[in-house]
Amino acid sequence: MMDRNKVYDFIIIGAGVIGCNIARELARYKTKILVIEKEDDVASEISKANSGVLHTGIYVPYGSLKAKTNVQGLAKFKRLSQELNFGMVINEKLVVAMDNEERKQLVDLYEQGNRNGAKGLRLIDEEEIKRMEPNVNGKYALHSPFTCIIEPYKFTIALAENACQNGAKFLFNEAVTGIDKLNSTFQVRTSENNIYSSRWVINCAGVYSDKVSRMVVNTEYEIYPCKGEYYITDKVEGLIQRMIYPVPPADGSGLGIHFTPTIEHNMLIGPSADYINERSNTTNTQETMKILKAETHKYIPKLANVDFIRNYAGIRPKLISGKDDKTFADFVIEENKKVDHFINLIGIESPGLTSAPAIADMVIDIIGNKEDLLENETFNPHREEPIRFATLPPEEQAKLIEENEEYGIMVCRCETVTQAEIIKTIENPLGVCSLDAIKRRCRSMMGRCQGGFCAPRIVEILMDRYGRKPEEIYKNNKKSNLFFGLIKD
Ligand SMILES: Cc1cc2nc3c(=O)[nH]c(=O)nc-3n(C[C@H](O)[C@H](O)[C@H](O)COP(=O)(O)OP(=O)(O)OC[C@H]3O[C@@H](n4cnc5c(N)ncnc54)[C@H](O)[C@@H]3O)c2cc1C
Repeated sequence: MMDRNKVYDFIIIGAGVIGCNIARELARYKTKILVIEKEDDVASEISKANSGVLHTGIYVPYGSLKAKTNVQGLAKFKRLSQELNFGMVINEKLVVAMDNEERKQLVDLYEQGNRNGAKGLRLIDEEEIKRMEPNVNGKYALHSPFTCIIEPYKFTIALAENACQNGAKFLFNEAVTGIDKLNSTFQVRTSENNIYSSRWVINCAGVYSDKVSRMVVNTEYEIYPCKGEYYITDKVEGLIQRMIYPVPPADGSGLGIHFTPTIEHNMLIGPSADYINERSNTTNTQETMKILKAETHKYIPKLANVDFIRNYAGIRPKLISGKDDKTFADFVIEENKKVDHFINLIGIESPGLTSAPAIADMVIDIIGNKEDLLENETFNPHREEPIRFATLPPEEQAKLIEENEEYGIMVCRCETVTQAEIIKTIENPLGVCSLDAIKRRCRSMMGRCQGGFCAPRIVEILMDRYGRKPEEIYKNNKKSNLFFGLIKD
């Protein structure tokens, strides 16, 4: 139950990777934290729809906040993955040039990466490309050996669960609609006609962060949404070992359409880069899918024959107005100069996922400069690793089934997820249980059949075990119910 009369120390608006990282860092101190999220789960917008790559710092200008937080953020991931068990693999990357003209850009990236502190960079030729990746076309490449891959939504979930277990409160399905400051207290109004009070407000609203900022003070920031579409192939092993990137397009719209082997052996292909008018437009278009296919033919022809199982799109919260705008826009990470205790995080595009832990540290420093943060002695940085039945050796699987027969009931055949794992997922610390929330936590409905087989069984579990009515079962938000009721009892 949310106590509406309580004055929180911090209200964080937005439960993406930035908001959740900050919530977890603040939970290390004796503070009252409320995270308000307009959707029904964490990682519902940009933080679920990106490449999931932890960059080393080759793409961002030396001296910028993007470069600083990228390199510092990456350095924190090893420890974070040990504490929070979200899964991370170190993988290599090749940025491929097709001709001498593109090679010049590789040299620039190499020099920029070295200045920023990226480790182990090397320029290689066609022969070495072929030795490393026989299926990839390219004349030259920049080899980066310490890039990592994560599942970005799992990282965000892990941060939020750990913050929650350490005392932070999460509120879903309420959009912040207005913010007033009365004396030294913010009054944060929401779409459910509630008002929550706090001493600090931290704006982590992603693609809407300019709008949230203007609820408090007239800031000049303007977000220009730029859509990136992807498709995901069926599981494919052995075609490429490393991430393959092109040289980034000169217009600064993104890093170019790249090929990312995921932790679960699917391949991500994308993203495109199209400035759009509507921030919520995450549709996929046939036109863009054709472009992604053409790029696949160009760089990795054999990959173009692998079936794809799904597509998705993420929106870059750009602070530049379009492809013709060549200015560099850095992250905005600041306490507002006119309104005390109001912190803005705006324009957190790539490498925002990699930078998130360092951005959270910067926010703690901003707060720490204004007040004493007292250590929370009970803070526990560890989050238990969820059991993944499919990855266990047969004797451990047999032991689990002996202890709980629901481990012997296979619900998702594509990703081999058992009934016991589904139940544990439904009973997650944040208390979210839409079908998408279940999917992102335990991979059921993520495989080749995309839920064709297991979704009806998960619906049955929600109805039989948790007493949900059919019309109370949602794909994600409260407008996405799958059913209108029973046609017979
Ligand atoms: C196509 C693409 C590829 C990328 N690839 C990478 C990559 O490989 N590596 C990397 O490091 N970075 C990458 N990034 C960048 C990275 O994904 C983002 O920087 C990061 O996810 C931003 O997180 P966030 O928390 O700021 O935003 P979000 O995840 O969007 O979170 C903001 C939250 O605020 C909520 N919200 C908004 N308005 C309100 C309101 N009024 N009230 C309540 N809640 C509200 C939203 O619902 C949302 O959940 C990529 C980005 C894109 C778009």
